Amino acid sequence: MGCKPLNFYYFRRNFNLNIMLRTHTCGELRLSDKGKNVILSGWMQRSRDLGGMTFIDLRDRYGITQLAFNMESDASLCEEERTLGREYVIQVAGIVEERSNKNPKMPTGDIEIIVKKLTVLNTSKLPPFTIEDETDGGEELRMKYRYLDLRRNPVRRNLELRHRMSIETRKYLDSVNFIEIETPYLIKSTPEGARDFVVPSRMNQGQFYALPQSPQTFKQLLMVAGYDRYYQIVKCFRDEDLRADRQPEFTQIDCEMAFVTQEDILNTFEGLAKHLFKVIKGMDMEDFPRMSYDEAMKTYGSDKPDIRFGMKFVELNGLVQGSGFQVFDDAELVVGINAEGCGEYTRKQLDELTEFVKRPQVGAKGLVYVKYNEDGSFKSSVDKFFDSNALQRWAEAFGAKPGDLMLILAGAAHATRSSLNVLRLEMGKRLGLRDPEDFKPLWVVDFPLLEWDEETRRYYAMHHPFTSPKPEDIALLDSDPGKVRANAYDMVINGVEIGGGSIRIHNRDLQKRMFSILGFSDEEAQSQFGFLMNAFEYGAPPHGGIAYGFDRWTAVFAGQESIRDFIAFPKNNAGRDMMIDSPSEISQDQLKELGLQIRPVNK
Ligand code: ASP
Repeated sequence: MGCKPLNFYYFRRNFNLNIMLRTHTCGELRLSDKGKNVILSGWMQRSRDLGGMTFIDLRDRYGITQLAFNMESDASLCEEERTLGREYVIQVAGIVEERSNKNPKMPTGDIEIIVKKLTVLNTSKLPPFTIEDETDGGEELRMKYRYLDLRRNPVRRNLELRHRMSIETRKYLDSVNFIEIETPYLIKSTPEGARDFVVPSRMNQGQFYALPQSPQTFKQLLMVAGYDRYYQIVKCFRDEDLRADRQPEFTQIDCEMAFVTQEDILNTFEGLAKHLFKVIKGMDMEDFPRMSYDEAMKTYGSDKPDIRFGMKFVELNGLVQGSGFQVFDDAELVVGINAEGCGEYTRKQLDELTEFVKRPQVGAKGLVYVKYNEDGSFKSSVDKFFDSNALQRWAEAFGAKPGDLMLILAGAAHATRSSLNVLRLEMGKRLGLRDPEDFKPLWVVDFPLLEWDEETRRYYAMHHPFTSPKPEDIALLDSDPGKVRANAYDMVINGVEIGGGSIRIHNRDLQKRMFSILGFSDEEAQSQFGFLMNAFEYGAPPHGGIAYGFDRWTAVFAGQESIRDFIAFPKNNAGRDMMIDSPSEISQDQLKELGLQIRPVNK
């Protein structure tokens, strides 16, 4: 991402080399500046001693400029230069010269500064890892010295991308009348599926605030208040187990609109996504396809399908059951994918794939394969049960050609689909079908309203308890709650859910009914959400909204999976900030002040 040159105009007009720390940045000077007297300041990235000449790469946020020291013309300066260490902060004054050895890869690669004066502004200890694009520092070390890691180009570029995305999001939403309103961070629990972080109250001892998992109820109250288009780029907090794409505090682009249908919301936010694709990625996107949750699950085994490639699921129950192969005969679902051009897979590769699907994270019991050989014959792991006529029919169902490999799983429907989803993504990766610069967004719509949990034997809200059932399904709420669909939707890009939302309930009675279906007693519903239900009695307009995972969206635009390097100061997998060493214990005095139990200190 390009950066504007700093505006040093004022300083340059009042050029006084004795008082200025820099006249230009390290990314700015070009051949057209040849002959100018300049002052640069920055960090010493690297120095190369070539006998008569020494070169330094001087780095700041804007780039790198080569400094040249000439032993013959200025020996004492060269002596001084030799005392510098990596990451010393220095200031140099000198003249811009054309380089004899140009570097076309660097924007400043045509010039160098012939240094006349060198000042050390600060020394530096030897950094614990190299501050280069490819560093030798491990994750934990980089986090501990995050301020050094942040000096590296790849991380800096990520933060610049994030900045541009937030600016462009604000521009777009402002242009269509959204207003940014801040909501409080010290609130009370909103059940959105995760655990809350809580904050003890000193003034109300024994009571706790919760940090918001999202501003959900506040944005709905803003709709009741008449602010019909709200947004906020906002921190949210969820006390969950962490993964590469999760952090305990993360940022949402949180939005809500009143007097809208689902269609209005999808169009408005497809507009935001297209704007970001255009201005950030330079891409004109076509209208996003829409897929129902049911179709996504049936065809891709996932509610966030990666549609950069096909390899769609083919269900085989009708074709394969009743042939005496117990695994298929007993299965609720037999389903497979066709990996084009993988018919040459060796025994070893197939064993590897079988091990892959049997890992606990994938959870399949085994893998059936059918190789469609180039000569038209078949070789399968179930040759004992199925002859080549049968396998030919399978191949037709898959649309397979000679040279392809069919991979089949069997078992309980939901679990088998999830396992096959993982296998499909793996095959897509192996076949190079998941190019991070190829973007295939879509909307997944018509989510079920509720999800049954076997363990606790109750329904949970699939999105959250404020999501409205589809009006035509309300009648099913009592008779068959699991069948009720919601006006809920997710925006998915390349297999990553980057945002989700719903049309909300705005009627007190329906909201109350929803809480009761979710197992809340009337008292519990009233004490936790009375404020929202009461507000619904004062003219709540129909409304709905969406929230995007901002860190994740930025990572997807950069073609990366981990969100960590898109957050300036992230936490590690144990939820720790390695740099400031948090969380940490607090003093007995603080505990006492908060009215919290004081534990004896075991020494
Ligand atoms: N509050 C929801 C979430 O954080 C998003 C929404 O429904 O707007 O997932």
